[in-house]
Formats: sequence, structure tokens, C-alpha cells
Amino acid sequence: MTVPTYPVEIIAPPSAAAAARAHLLHGDSVEQYRRTLADGVDRVARRMAAVDRPGTGITPAELAPVVDRVDLDRPLGDANAALDELEDVYLRDAVWFHHPRYLAHLNCPVAIPALLGEAVLTAVNSSLDTWDQSAGATLIERRLIDWTAERIGLGPNADGVFTSGGSQSNLQALLLAREEACLAATTPAARADLLPRLRVLTSAAGHFSVQKSAKLLGLAPDAVIAVPTDPQRRIRPAAVRDEIARCRLAGLVVMAVAGTAGTTDFGSIDPIAELARVCASASVWLHVDAAYGCGLLVSPTRRHLLDGIERADSVTVDYHKSFFQPVSSSALLVRDRRVLRHATYHADYLNPARMVEQRIPNQVDKSMQTTRRFDALKLWLTLRVMGPDALGALFDEVVDRAADAWQLVSEDPRFEVVTRSELSTVVFRYLPTGPGRELADAANLHAREALAASGAAVVAGTRVDGRHFLKFTLLNPATTVDDVDHVLELIAAHAGRYVHEHTAADLTCHVG
Ligand SMILES: *Cc1c(COP(=O)(O)O)cnc(C)c1O
Repeated sequence: MTVPTYPVEIIAPPSAAAAARAHLLHGDSVEQYRRTLADGVDRVARRMAAVDRPGTGITPAELAPVVDRVDLDRPLGDANAALDELEDVYLRDAVWFHHPRYLAHLNCPVAIPALLGEAVLTAVNSSLDTWDQSAGATLIERRLIDWTAERIGLGPNADGVFTSGGSQSNLQALLLAREEACLAATTPAARADLLPRLRVLTSAAGHFSVQKSAKLLGLAPDAVIAVPTDPQRRIRPAAVRDEIARCRLAGLVVMAVAGTAGTTDFGSIDPIAELARVCASASVWLHVDAAYGCGLLVSPTRRHLLDGIERADSVTVDYHKSFFQPVSSSALLVRDRRVLRHATYHADYLNPARMVEQRIPNQVDKSMQTTRRFDALKLWLTLRVMGPDALGALFDEVVDRAADAWQLVSEDPRFEVVTRSELSTVVFRYLPTGPGRELADAANLHAREALAASGAAVVAGTRVDGRHFLKFTLLNPATTVDDVDHVLELIAAHAGRYVHEHTAADLTCHVG
């Protein structure tokens, strides 16, 4: 057997690593970067221009085999081939939030300047944890935190940090509140005694991440107390005051009141100014979850709905909900920058304590994350291109549209509608009459599923006082009253058919 010999000095066979290097972004691969990204943008643009419904209604059972068939160990080697494949596994059946009949959750159409930001931030790939990984990105994030805190009115000592979303912002807010409540418990024994006695007050319409945070923070299983709401689904400040007093008598410590500025289902805004008074007189931390309602911060006409928010100790804002930003873009703001120290840990390799003395701005000192995206760039470019008034005008438009939609549903005898939202949701249900009345829950569940399966529209469902309701969340200024009207007709048709079929079947049963 002869051993083949290669003239290695003349033509070295390309090593796998050398070939792979062509896929990395660097000064010599910019042409490939330009072409690849342009191909991707072109693909999405063509797909978007052709989208004629918010989804295809594909089921997990139908789509899973398509995804499973992909052999991840056999690369296609070429971006266009991968994009072709992506049509099958993702793009063709994607759910499109920009479609006017996507009316389900708090997903917004996204601002193009933000998409430009996304492209820039992922290419440069700064990491916000330390100055030595980000430079200007740190300063830009800080400016936006200051800008947001100023819009809220938190005062000269405010600070904050970008987070991955409202859930994380709420978790961090409650972490800070817990640590402030535990300041007096200086020994491990005192802390162990205090932790199970900590309580958080919020309304039943508050976000579930408050409950989840309490669990993550090691609080008692019954630590979150749901305070009663008024008919508009806003927390009752007097009930908060009474609950604080009751807790104290029972030897419990209320570590925070979590008010909501824009509940996820009802768009209701807790009376923040009154909550602030109650919290101040009881020396209790006030957190305001404005994940949804933060769009009012830039509203030219409705900023007053947030009156009192300037007195909060901490505020959650989700730019990816009402600032038309792509996921993720969120922040936690605090009135007193010093409380952020509860999230600080000095690691020798990353952010040693001496850097604080050297005034090196390391955002990791304020964050629960370490490596962190430069999400702030999306908002920065949006503000620099469009400005805050334009964003606020867009949010105002969807709030107006929701008021029109509420009017439409409330005047339609086929539907029952819940409280009128201060933001952009409409919670309602189809109400069968006569013998089909007890089928209301099943008919509404069916209508939602049938609608989603047809791909004609996507709406959300929720439960109100134990009954199944449907929900529109309007965040798309392109949605017209005609769109809403059309979707209502579809819902009435699906639900009506369900009731008809099931009452007819019942009758046949009885007759047979
Ligand atoms: C959406 C929402 C959250 C959670 O925010 P994410 O960004 O989804 O984590 C928290 N609170 C309220 C009121 C919300 O509507």
C-alpha cells in the first residue's frame, strides 16, 4: 500500500477552520456580511409584502415533523439554501404582528429605525456588562435610562437598567424591595425569621410575574395578597391601606405594593397617586408595573393617566409593548440609585470593587444579567429618527381605536363586554340566547380556536370571574374599525354555528 503524499508546501489543503473563518464577520468578510444580510432582509420583505393573514393556523403536530426532519449535523453551507429551508420551518407559518387582524397579545408592529438598531447592535455585538466591552453603548443606555426616569419624574437620584422584559424588571424591583425590607434584619437568624413574614400587595388583575417573582425570591407561598378592585378593575387604595394594617396586626411585613399602570387584560390603571399616598404614610415600597401603560409617557394627550407615577420607588417599562420596539426592550427604573447596590456583586475578573472608585461605569453592577444585549440602541435610533411625540401619537391612535372597538361591541346585542379599557384592550364574549345560553363558555373557546385555525384573525382568550371571555389587544395603528367589525362577524359566525350544532344535537338526543 502506498501512502499518498501531498506537496504541502505548494498547495496546503484548506483546513476546516480556515474555511469556517469565512463565515465570521471581520474586515475581510464584509462583502459576504453585506450580501447575506441583504438576502435575509429581502426574503423577509418579500414575505411581509405577501402576507394576507396574521397566521396560517398551523398546529404543532403539523409543524414539528418539518422541524425535526432538519439534520443539524449536515450543514447546507450556503445562506440562501438555509433561507429556503427557513421558509418551510418558520417563515411561511409565522404569526405576523403587523397584520391588522392580529388582535391577540401585547405585540406591536415594530419601528423600522429600531430594526436598523437591531442590525447594528448584533453586528458590533457590544456587551453591556462592563465598560471594557461596550464603551459608548454604556453611555447610550444610561442616557435612555435618564430620559425615561425624567419622563416619569423620578427626580435627580433616579437610575435604572435595561432588562429582557417586564417579568425580569418586576423580579428585580421585588428583589430590591425585599432587600430594603430586610435591612433591619442584620443577623442570619433575624433574616430567616423575617423572610416568611414578607408580603406583597397587588390586585387580582396584576401580572402573574409578581407571583412568580415572589416564588423565586424565596417568599412564603401565600406572600402575594390580591387586593380587591373596583368595577373598573383598578386596585382600591383604601383596601390596600386596610390590608397593610391587617398585616401589621398579624405580625406580617408588607415589603411592597405592586400597582399596575395598564393591566394586561383590562388595560386598567391603578390610582397611582392615591397608592403613593397610602404607601408613603405606611413607609411601604411602591412598585408600578407600567409594562403596558408606559406608552403614555410619550402620549401627547394622555400622559395625565400616569399621574402619581413620579412618586413610585420603582417602575417597570416595556418598550417592546407600547414603544413599538422589537423584543427585547425593557427597563427597570428606581427613584433612589443606591438601592441598585442590592444587585451588585464584584467579581475579580470582571468588575472588581476598585473600578467603582475609579468611576468606571459597569452596568453589570446594576443588572441581574451579566453578558447583555445593547437593546437600548433600538430605542435610541427610534427616538433619533422619529422622536417621542411620533411614538406617543401611534400609541394614542391605538387607544382611540380600542375605544371605537369597545363602542362597537357594546352596541352589539350578540356580545357582552367588560369594563371599558383606559388603554387598548377589549374584553368581551359572545352571549348565546335561549337554550344555548349555558354553552357560552364552550362557544367562545371554540370561536377563538376556529378563528386561529382559519388564520383569518388571531384574538386572545381570558377568564373573567370564572367565565371564558375573548380579548382584543390593539397595538397596531393599521387596524381599522372595519377590521374589528369583520373579526366580530367571524366570531359570531363560529360561536353561533357551535351553539346551533350543539343545541340541535341535544334536541336529536332527547327526541331519539
Ligand atoms: C407583559 C406584561 C408583563 C411581562 O412583561 P414581559 O416583557 O412579557 O416579560 C408584566 N406586567 C404587565 C402588566 C404586562 O402586561
